[in-house]
Amino acid sequence: MPEIVILRIGHRPLRDQRVTTHVGLAARALGARGMFLAADDSGVVRSIRDVVERWGGDFFIEDKIPWKRCIREWRESGGTVVHLTMYGERIQDREDELREAERILVVVGAEKVPGELYGLADYNIAVTGQPHSEISSLAVLLDHLFAATELDREFPGAHVRVIPSAMGKQTEER
Ligand code: SAM
Repeated sequence: MPEIVILRIGHRPLRDQRVTTHVGLAARALGARGMFLAADDSGVVRSIRDVVERWGGDFFIEDKIPWKRCIREWRESGGTVVHLTMYGERIQDREDELREAERILVVVGAEKVPGELYGLADYNIAVTGQPHSEISSLAVLLDHLFAATELDREFPGAHVRVIPSAMGKQTEER
């Protein structure tokens, strides 16, 4: 299974804060290693770090990341870059190959992404050719690449944990 890190580009502080936070939360819950944010937004960073502190694991988040340099350095160090876009190749045609990669940087946009991104990525991958969102496309990609094993993932060091139950809410605090 590859190690997966997200690069969130195009984030507009205030306007995209909630969606970007949810990109990070989905990435963490579904097995990614961390997220680079190509914007200056300490609010998003704080929210994600608060969740990690309380709910465990070692997911990282860093903001103020220059996105082109991030992509260049990732590729120079032998990593694979996947840009999620509805215009890309079908995920079902590339997932076996992507699962063989050691490290993947997954780039997701907000509104329109810069055209040059298509050429900078190793793969442009679509989760259907329909418009939806960075959260849903990322979730499906992670589930396909981890082949559902991420659903059994543990989050060491958690102060709170949900006890699954058919009815009501049960948690355990430590
Ligand atoms: N119209 C915008 C564009 O052309 O870049 C799409 C904006 S969409 C709200 C935000 C992000 O969601 C995109 O940059 C892409 O990463 C992701 N996304 C949306 N639909 C997708 C799809 N069908 N497959 C893969 N990624 C998708």
